[in-house]
Amino acid sequence: MKVGIVYNPVYLEHNTGEHPESKGRLEAIVRRLKESGLWEKLTHIAPRPAIVEELLHVHDEGHIRYVREMASSGGGNIDADTVVSARSYDAALYAAGGVERAVGAVMAGEVSSAFALVRPPGHHATRAQAMGFCLFNNVAVAAAHALDKYHLERVLILDFDVHHGNGTQDVFSREPRVHYISVHQSPLYPGSGGINETATGNMFNIPLPPGCGDAEYVCVYDEVVTPLAHRFAPRLILVSAGFDAHWADNLASMCLSISGYAQIARRIKALADELCEGRLVLGLEGGYNLEALAGAAKVVFDVLLGNQNIEDRLGPCPSRRRTPDINSLLGQVKKVFSLV
Ligand code: ZN
Repeated sequence: MKVGIVYNPVYLEHNTGEHPESKGRLEAIVRRLKESGLWEKLTHIAPRPAIVEELLHVHDEGHIRYVREMASSGGGNIDADTVVSARSYDAALYAAGGVERAVGAVMAGEVSSAFALVRPPGHHATRAQAMGFCLFNNVAVAAAHALDKYHLERVLILDFDVHHGNGTQDVFSREPRVHYISVHQSPLYPGSGGINETATGNMFNIPLPPGCGDAEYVCVYDEVVTPLAHRFAPRLILVSAGFDAHWADNLASMCLSISGYAQIARRIKALADELCEGRLVLGLEGGYNLEALAGAAKVVFDVLLGNQNIEDRLGPCPSRRRTPDINSLLGQVKKVFSLV
């Protein structure tokens, strides 16, 4: 079973300065993979830059031009959170192209699954707007590529980043060939991601209260995500893989552990194996505590490789006082999504 990795130093050239979304994130993951010996066990897939025609499936021409021109003039701030540096346009093209290449490698059978370690992240980028650290929506570009180039009838996007992927929802809200399932914290940036936010029945948002940990996430995956995925029967599963629901992450208030990420990854891999011959591609989104990010990204690779030993150096959430009761929320979600 070959597992692919997409990485290139061009991703370090998106220079955000003093910012949680820094190049140190990718450096920490790569260091951990090398230390552990996993790096040599992975099949390395060289990314290419996405071409503008591919971005146009997802983004307005004006948005693409805006990012390009801002970078070529030396960079600046798009909003309080979202930074463009001189090399950010190229890094962003390679980020979108990197997830596309991972899709290509999986579709060609070169690898059974792949994880693209890219930045800038993507799931907040809407058709017309960069926001929330995101310039182009990498996973959405890759999903559009899967529809366009490989003529897949059904592509499922799962999103376990702690923030709602408003950009992905914006891009595909009227594309029935794509279903999007997001499990995120609410309330939290960007404020979207309510249960009823679906115009055509293909957006499935599961907004969890702060404080949810491994047990709540496993329950949501078993009782909601898994049956939704089975009902849709995708030909490919893409994942917006953010690790900012870890308890040590300062940008949110969830309580997932590294072991919890392994449990989620096992469920997603099982879905890909059962539903689409294992075709699974993950693209990195958030995750800002470097130790948690590196540890969780590593266990995702362990799960993809079939390794049983899961190392969780940070352990369970130390400050968890009470368990949020998500039963009534789950009941409501299942009703709205017609799972009961
Ligand atoms: Zn996030």
